Amino acid sequence: MFMFARLLAMLMACLTMPAILAPVRAEAPHTFDGKHDISVINLTVAYLVPKDREALPDWRERVDYYMDRISRFHERESGGVSKLKIQVHPEPLISGKPAQELRGDEPNATFFNSVNEVAALLKWNQEKPEGFPILLVLSEINWRELDDFTRLRQLDGQPMFDGNLAPDGRHFPGAESGGARAIYDPEKGLGIGLVSADGWRVPYSGSDCVVYHEGVGHAIGLPHPEPADDSVMCFGQYHYWINQTWVTPEQKLALGWPAHSGPVPLDFGGSSNLFTAFTALQSPIVPQPGEAVTLKLTWPKDAKVSVIQVRIQTDLQGPWLTLPSRPGVEPPAELALGTFDRVTPVSYRVNVVLEDGQKVELRGYFQVKAQAP
Ligand SMILES: [Zn+2]
Repeated sequence: MFMFARLLAMLMACLTMPAILAPVRAEAPHTFDGKHDISVINLTVAYLVPKDREALPDWRERVDYYMDRISRFHERESGGVSKLKIQVHPEPLISGKPAQELRGDEPNATFFNSVNEVAALLKWNQEKPEGFPILLVLSEINWRELDDFTRLRQLDGQPMFDGNLAPDGRHFPGAESGGARAIYDPEKGLGIGLVSADGWRVPYSGSDCVVYHEGVGHAIGLPHPEPADDSVMCFGQYHYWINQTWVTPEQKLALGWPAHSGPVPLDFGGSSNLFTAFTALQSPIVPQPGEAVTLKLTWPKDAKVSVIQVRIQTDLQGPWLTLPSRPGVEPPAELALGTFDRVTPVSYRVNVVLEDGQKVELRGYFQVKAQAP
């Protein structure tokens, strides 16, 4: 017994010694190449509006929604070792240029014109704030004209679909006219991302992944993983909301984040965390006019509901309509959205509060379509 106790005491001493002696720097989470500390990421976010365009009336709520989604994801995936410190510029940033001038001739020109103007207007990163600096520009426009609510662009006077549909008709981000991209500069120690209008204004499932993919992932140097998978730095945005995707264990190791050794993806549905487990997907996926539409919901284990609020919008510039809420603590498997009397795009947002205090907001989008002739 004595020997065992002494051995245990020695072992514990050995285990604690490296933590005392090792330089903090070596243990700090860092960019993918190991060059820059990302214990704190200082994310500056601005909404850029060309001078010939109008800002969305509820732009701030939309931006805050994505900031909430990516913050929770970053906290979960980094195990809390990397803190995302977000500052949203309090007003839309009105460009001195009209849309066409900001665009230039191609998506890279749109990127550099947009981010350079925002960096100059904000005097971004001139005073070197604490943490790894990232500038994220959420743009009012795409590199080419596109209506991101109907997902149509006019080509020779004809409406053409420019978006990304799963085989079952579910909408995900991704449009040829979009142009979201990001850079990581290892020499200057900074990252810059641009999410074009199609990547955030309308909340397709996966738009939250796009904001993280460009606004944090690439900006801290993360590449697309090889082999390809459904993680956030690969195809996550084409299949999931961000709570359902992940950073790969290999990328976590490279970032100095704790990486679990279990299966990937985790059993998100079996989680007791509301952010991780909650989803709300319309049924049918592509409703027709006059057809009853519901949201099918997934919940964390043992959830007891305090509040559910559902709002919908059929006009991007218009108001959100609040649907009557449903009382009861048992989490419902589905919620009725009602019927739509005509062909229309629909954005929806669900806010949930559980009795244990957990809260979440989830947004989605679908189109009511006429039956194929
Ligand atoms: Zn990418």
